[in-house]
Amino acid sequence: MSIDLSKMPKLGFGLMRLPENDGVIDHEQVCRMVDKYLEAGLTYFDTAYVYHGGKSEVEAREALVKRHPRDSFTLATKLPAWEIKKEDDVERIFNEQLERAGVDYFDFYLLHSIEEGNNYDTYVKYNCFEWGVKKREEGKIKHFGFSFHGSPELLTEIVDNHPEIEFVQIQYNYLDRTNPVVRSQELYEILRARNIPMVIMEPVKGGALAKMVPEAEAMFKAKRPDKSVASWALRFVASQPGIMTILSGMSDEAQMEDNLNTFKNFEPLTDEETAVVNEVTAKLLEVPQIGCTACKYCTPGCPMQISIPDVFRTINTLRRTPDDWRSKNFYSGLIQRSGKASDCIACGQCEGVCPQHLPIIDLMKEAAEILGE
Ligand code: SF4
Ligand code: SF4
Repeated sequence: MSIDLSKMPKLGFGLMRLPENDGVIDHEQVCRMVDKYLEAGLTYFDTAYVYHGGKSEVEAREALVKRHPRDSFTLATKLPAWEIKKEDDVERIFNEQLERAGVDYFDFYLLHSIEEGNNYDTYVKYNCFEWGVKKREEGKIKHFGFSFHGSPELLTEIVDNHPEIEFVQIQYNYLDRTNPVVRSQELYEILRARNIPMVIMEPVKGGALAKMVPEAEAMFKAKRPDKSVASWALRFVASQPGIMTILSGMSDEAQMEDNLNTFKNFEPLTDEETAVVNEVTAKLLEVPQIGCTACKYCTPGCPMQISIPDVFRTINTLRRTPDDWRSKNFYSGLIQRSGKASDCIACGQCEGVCPQHLPIIDLMKEAAEILGE
């Protein structure tokens, strides 16, 4: 049965950033959030095998499945390529997911995070596309799709070769439309041209579009003082045609409240408001970026093993959107494996080899200040 977009809620509840107390999911708060979301007439819950180290699917069972009738919500989850080492693993993981979530079937099932390289190769190697069709025929999956982080070229190849795919989850927000790494607008156009429904992730760019440089925020506030900065990002995405649902990984009741307000009596962006979004996008793209081309000529000789281009990538995002928690998380992970910006001893080796003639020592000081280490 094809997906009827008119029956899909515009806001999906992403269960990947649930509230926690001392590293433990705050079950009581999640229950209240689930209830509020359902009371608002919304139904789409999105989890994955790997979210919260495997605890998200279990929390879906405890806060949602055990407490609400099965036909009052839809549940989506995902198969992790990186956990599949042999063909039997696919079935084993799927059965584990059913058990963890306490359900007999999933309404939406996705191959998680397809991109060039290992993940896609694994799904092909272990016949996961054919397996998904079989599960759908068995009634264990109602709708089969995948989430995607690769190039427009790969997306075209997959959707043209796999008519069994009913929907695709992509990253889309106003700032990433022209981002050369994400190429969101191209991904959107490919799916739109083929009439494939889209689930949208990162509509607020991991929180980055909830707080940005003050000049850009002021442009939104001047137009609609009553609306939060984040609500513009959600309204922008929700105003595009072909969207099945927009995932927001809500971390507390306040975020839930703000999102529900945005979608209650949803107002699509007017032409004037779309113009404001485009002006803000241009303003954010004007914020100076470090012109590092990630050639890595500088890294082998750094005595402190600082991953210089990765530090600059982080700083470039934070200069535009200082609250981008995803970039901060990326940096925390990075410095487990390599040196910190604050480790720089100003030896100057890197500046001597950098073909872009970047003032790396000064930039490392700025990075250490922004990142706190
Ligand atoms: S100046 Fe700093 S970043 Fe550059 S090579 Fe030396 S320690 Fe590494
Ligand atoms: S040598 Fe310069 S441009 Fe190349 S990665 Fe290092 S900082 Fe970036």
